[in-house]
Amino acid sequence: MSLDGTYDDGNIFAKILRGDMPAARVFEDEHVLAFMDVFPQARGHTLVIPKHSTARNLLDEDPAVLAELIKDVQRVARAVRAALKPDGLVVTQFNGALAGQTVYHLHFHIIPRWEGVPVGRHASGGMADPAELKVLAAQIAAQIS
Ligand code: 5GP
Repeated sequence: MSLDGTYDDGNIFAKILRGDMPAARVFEDEHVLAFMDVFPQARGHTLVIPKHSTARNLLDEDPAVLAELIKDVQRVARAVRAALKPDGLVVTQFNGALAGQTVYHLHFHIIPRWEGVPVGRHASGGMADPAELKVLAAQIAAQIS
């Protein structure tokens, strides 16, 4: 999908938000939901999405929503750091298929990195064990402040 287009509420993240699809939930408040990426590029790969949004990407989003969202991205990234003690953290997001975007509901990736551990390929790795994701989600959730 190009940068132009309309929001499709049949996307996977909309289904997760509605509770129609399961996810290992880390954190949620009235504005955002954070959950584990099911095809993680690294252990602890976490996604943060706005709840009440029909923005497919960063460019579509209301700046006021973005301003709040990035605070929660930082909050979750700090919790990932505290829980998993990575050596680095990638925070990223993709806009449009050509840029690598595969799910068209705005989201930020938080990807922990460890010295000597290669990062997996974006959206094309193996599926994680749901039980392991649940444990990681609980570990990260315990560090949300
Ligand atoms: P994008 O490619 O749009 O930047 O990122 C979408 C992300 O969603 C990818 O990292 C992919 O692994 C993840 N993903 C795709 N399907 C699901 C799903 O059903 N559940 C969860 N938790 N993550 C998903």
